[in-house]
Amino acid sequence: MSQVQSIPFRCTLPDAAGHFGPYGGTYVPETLMTPLLELTEAYRAAWDDPTFRDELSRQLKSYAGRPTELCFSERLTRHLGGARIYLKREDLLHTGAHKINNALGQALLAKRMGKTRVIAETGAGQHGIATASVCAKLGLECVIYMGAVDMARQALNVYRMRLSGAEVRGVEAGQKTLKEAINEAIRDWVTNVRTTHYVLGSALGPHPYPMMVRNFHKVIGEETRRQIMEAEKRLPDEMVACVGGGSNAIGFFFDFLDEPDVRLVGVEAGGYGITPGKHAARFEGGKLGVLQGCKTFILQNPDGQIDLTHSVSAGLDYAAIGPEHAFYRDRGRIDYAYATDDEALEAFRLCARLEGIIPALESSHAIAYTVKRAPRMPSDSVLVVNLSGRGDKDVQEASRLMDAVDS
Ligand SMILES: *Cc1c(COP(=O)(O)O)cnc(C)c1O
Repeated sequence: MSQVQSIPFRCTLPDAAGHFGPYGGTYVPETLMTPLLELTEAYRAAWDDPTFRDELSRQLKSYAGRPTELCFSERLTRHLGGARIYLKREDLLHTGAHKINNALGQALLAKRMGKTRVIAETGAGQHGIATASVCAKLGLECVIYMGAVDMARQALNVYRMRLSGAEVRGVEAGQKTLKEAINEAIRDWVTNVRTTHYVLGSALGPHPYPMMVRNFHKVIGEETRRQIMEAEKRLPDEMVACVGGGSNAIGFFFDFLDEPDVRLVGVEAGGYGITPGKHAARFEGGKLGVLQGCKTFILQNPDGQIDLTHSVSAGLDYAAIGPEHAFYRDRGRIDYAYATDDEALEAFRLCARLEGIIPALESSHAIAYTVKRAPRMPSDSVLVVNLSGRGDKDVQEASRLMDAVDS
C-alpha cells in the first residue's frame, strides 16, 4: 500500500506519446500518424474549452440521462450477508449502457473538428447503437462496421442502427467478428480521414483513444464519489467492474486511483474456464503484444497468432485489454479476477430476482465476483458495483442457456 500511496496516478498518465509505462503507444501505419496527432490536439483543445465541456455536460444530462443513480441493494446485501452493496446504475442510460458517454463525447468532438461523417466498429451492437443514436441526434452521417457473423447473431441490433439512419456494413474477412470489423474501420479511416472521425468504442487502440475514452467515462467515478459520500459519509472499501476493453472499469475507477484504502477490482470473462480459446481473461494466460494500435496483454499462441476467445457476453469477448489496465495491474493498484459463463448467468438471475434489475451479461460478471466476495467482508464495509448496462439485449440468449440447464 505504501508504494501505491507514493505514486499519484491521476492526471499523470499517459505520457505525451500515449504510454502507460511499457503499455499503450501508437502502433499504426504511417498514414495514420498525422490524423492521430490532429485528433490528439483537437481533443486536448476541446477538453480544455469550457464551451465544449458545458455542451457535453448538457447533452449527457438531457440526452443520455446523467447523473445515474447509485442505489443500495438491500436484498442482495441481506442475501449475501456481508458488505453493504451499492449498484451504480449505468444501465439506466439512453441506449442501455455506459457506452453513450464516450459516443456522445467523440461525436461532439467530430463536429467541432468539422467532420461530417462518423464511422465505428461494433461487436454485439451496443457501441454501434450508441454511435448511431448520437449521430442521428447531431446530424452526422454514420457508417458502422460489423462482422457478418455478429450481424446474423444480432439482427435486431442491426435493425435498430439502421432505424437511426446508420449504414451497417458487413465484414466477411476472417472470423467475421469484432476484430475484423475494427480492421475495416481503420481501413475506411485511412481513406476518408479528411471528412471522417473514427469513434473507437473502448479504452483501446492507438493514442489518444485510451486516454480520451477514459476521460469521457470518468464522470462515472466522479458521480459515484459524490453519491457514496452522501449515502455512507465515507468512501467505499471496494469497487468492482467488468473489463472488456476496459472503458466502464477505468471510468469508474479513475477518480479513486489515488485513494489507497479503496480496493479496485476488474473482472474479466472466464468463459468455459481458463483453457486457450475458451475464455477472454487476458490476465490469465495473455502475453505482451501489439494488437490494433497498442501494446498490451493479448491472448495469443506462441507464434503470436491471436487466439480465439469465448464469453457468454459479447462485450467482454476480445483478445486484448486496454493498456492502462495492464499498467495498474503491474503496479498492484487494480486487482483482476474472472467469472465464468455459468457464474455470470447465475448472477444475472440472482440480480433480477432480488433487485428487479436485469443486468447485462457483461455486468453480471462483476456481480458474480461480488456474490463470492461480499460474504467475506464485514457487515459495516461498503462495496460498489458498476452496473455497466441493462440486460434486455441478453434475455433471449440467457433463457436459451438456462433452459438447457434447467430441463
Ligand atoms: C461493451 C460493454 C462492456 C465492455 O466494454 P468496456 O469497454 O470494458 O466497458 C461492458 N458492459 C456493457 C454493458 C457493454 O455494453
